[in-house]
Amino acid sequence: MSIVNCQLYIVNCHWGCYAIYDYLIVGAGLFGAVFARLVAERGKTALIVERRPHIGGNVYTENIREINVHKYGAHIFHTDNKTVWDYMSRFAEFNRYTNSPVANYNGEIYNLPFNMNTFYKMWGVTTPAEAKAEIERQKLEYGVDIPQNLEEQAISLVGHDIYLKLIKNYTQKQWGRACRDLPAFIIKRLPVRFSYDNNYFNDRYQGIPIGGYTALVEKILRHDNIELKIGVDYLKDKTSLSACALKIVYTGAIDEYFGYSLGPLEYRSVRFETEILDTDNYQGNAVVNYTDAATPYTRIIEHKHFEFGEQPVSVISREYSAEWKIGEEPYYPINNAENQCLYEKYKALSENEKNVIFGGRLGEYRYYDMDKVVEKAMQVAEIAEAT
Ligand code: UDP
Repeated sequence: MSIVNCQLYIVNCHWGCYAIYDYLIVGAGLFGAVFARLVAERGKTALIVERRPHIGGNVYTENIREINVHKYGAHIFHTDNKTVWDYMSRFAEFNRYTNSPVANYNGEIYNLPFNMNTFYKMWGVTTPAEAKAEIERQKLEYGVDIPQNLEEQAISLVGHDIYLKLIKNYTQKQWGRACRDLPAFIIKRLPVRFSYDNNYFNDRYQGIPIGGYTALVEKILRHDNIELKIGVDYLKDKTSLSACALKIVYTGAIDEYFGYSLGPLEYRSVRFETEILDTDNYQGNAVVNYTDAATPYTRIIEHKHFEFGEQPVSVISREYSAEWKIGEEPYYPINNAENQCLYEKYKALSENEKNVIFGGRLGEYRYYDMDKVVEKAMQVAEIAEAT
């Protein structure tokens, strides 16, 4: 990161840009950072503006008592794409962390994702054939044929008992909507395995960047052709900032870009209650989901376990899900039919913004995993540089 002295054109820009950059990138999250690095390595200049007081977007980690705290919720990097894995490994060494959350249902502990350990605990079955037969029996009992929503999808994948104890309340807490009113694809993110494998992901590569995500993003941004301005709100000074660059990459919320002119899209927001505890091990696992209805939070993250920390203290975050309101931080796009329809209208508007590329979770209104964001940034940078 440095001040770029690119004298392509001198412009009258009160942001102190003495040059026109090739790219103005709005947002220093994963999409913006990877895009900036890729074009910078092709000799292009990039100015990144970020309105939050830090880089990294929602992958930002803050070091508290020598523990990297995932300030915007747990982020476990996993991918099946070797190119993405190799690319990210240039900027950080990944540890061998394997995500194996457990679910706490009124004090009963179940392994996730749904696998033979879960089925054994739920029904006492010990073989895959017995587990499959039980799921099939429950599926028939509840009459699910072709699943039309999350509830039917869940029952059809794992049966009614698991749906009731491990899915229904958790999902309703997380999304603030009944499972019948949510798209089936949300639950299909989770593997269902007829083996005793507690790995939450099927991908070939998985881990946590040693030293935290902030250090990883810092390293991606450390390039002479990249300049970074923190605490700058692009939308408050759009005209002037846009004049600083030939092309703009916008990674903020697409509806906000257009002043919510067609109405706001819906998002879920998350509030974290973070506590430093005087114990070296609070819950014995990085992620414990609370799948009952009475517990107001969805999960507790104990951050030290992501990096096998041996600190004498521990930091935990309780995660409370809430409906997003304008002015708050949006987390999860709610990709149901109504919102998809509205998004398509914003997308049509975005196509008239000739010099602007919309990217990332908020720019594309997608429930994206980190690797998919990196993959997309790679594709978009390739296309942008070819045109
Ligand atoms: N889910 C659930 N019970 C759990 C964990 C997940 O019902 O204990 C459902 C829930 O609907 C959630 C979805 O599976 O939204 C995807 O979970 P994932 O862990 O991928 O969510 P994220 O980590 O992105 O919040």
